[in-house]
Amino acid sequence: MSQDSFQNPARETAGGLLRIDLGALARNWRAVKARASEGARVGAVVKAEAYGLGAAPVSAALYGAGCRDFFVAHLIEAQRLRPSLPAEARLILLNGFAPGGAAACFEAGTIPALNSLEQVAEWSAQARGRGRELEAFLQLDTGMSRLGLSPAEAEILTREPERLTGIRLLYVMSHLACADEPENPQNAFQLAEMKRLAALFPHLPISFANSGGVLLGPDWHGALLRPGLALYGGRTTRDREIPVEPVVRLDLRVIQLRSVRAGAKVGYGGVFTAPGETRLAVLSAGYADGLPRSLEGRGAVWFGGTRLPLAGRVSMDSMIVDVTALPPGALKPGDLVEMIGPNQSLEAVAAAAGTINYEILTGLGGRLHRDYASD
Ligand SMILES: *Cc1c(COP(=O)(O)O)cnc(C)c1O
Repeated sequence: MSQDSFQNPARETAGGLLRIDLGALARNWRAVKARASEGARVGAVVKAEAYGLGAAPVSAALYGAGCRDFFVAHLIEAQRLRPSLPAEARLILLNGFAPGGAAACFEAGTIPALNSLEQVAEWSAQARGRGRELEAFLQLDTGMSRLGLSPAEAEILTREPERLTGIRLLYVMSHLACADEPENPQNAFQLAEMKRLAALFPHLPISFANSGGVLLGPDWHGALLRPGLALYGGRTTRDREIPVEPVVRLDLRVIQLRSVRAGAKVGYGGVFTAPGETRLAVLSAGYADGLPRSLEGRGAVWFGGTRLPLAGRVSMDSMIVDVTALPPGALKPGDLVEMIGPNQSLEAVAAAAGTINYEILTGLGGRLHRDYASD
């Protein structure tokens, strides 16, 4: 959460401590840059509060590493982030603007991705109304059927170039649907579509690859890469990997310890029954903090190298773990246990919850204390 829009809970009392290593973040950006095609720019996708880590501090660290192109999805994100970005930094609005939103987009100092002919018309009218040229990215749909002009609409633009009056297009861009699956034939299909459609705009450079696309190879890179997940230390594919370091560590606070007898029911629904004398710790974080209910039966935390399995359901504000494996007295209220860290990766938590690392990261809530280390 950005520090100006949300108050950071105090470290000593917060239910969880999210440590964000800005040094590792900058090294990850450089690792992507080292893999990118010669001369290509590497941007940073900082939408959804930089995947839950805080768009302002993350962007400042990446700017320091040399990044100049920042991507957000929603206008509110651009409005929050722009004031903290240096003037030379470009801020691109991936979702474009809603109907009637061109003026607000301009006033937010943001370059829109134009995703439809309607948006092209509105941005052109905005430029003419202001008597100046306005920059934009042109997004094309190459096979995801999400955002961007269809091939037929792209062709209309080449036949009727006056529709672009007042617009200075910087890039043609498109997004890969299956970049995390290198063997998926959709990658080659989208590349062929991109080449065919980009040929309609021969003077424009291409922006194509996300994190997964970096590994697909230079053909998919284009002149401006748009990694998100890899910067935050997320693994993007199973087999091949960009050498990225973990950026996030999440520890949760113990707020109560108790012993229960065999047969005691634990948590909502009483779905966990103590098999014998059982020692439990109650942690002060739950699904409202982004730890999914689907961790039930599979999730765990760690303390001093010992795995402590979840007992019963995740509550909104707390969860209960079985600490019988620890010596009595090893844990006391106020202690922290590891949810994401050296013993348990972000990917392991996502797998236990039956989801993906993206969803775990972006769900991490505003009640966690965010601590930025830059080593
Ligand atoms: C989110 C997003 C990205 C970044 O994707 P990662 O897989 O996190 O690298 C890039 N481009 C677009 C259009 C996106 O929506």
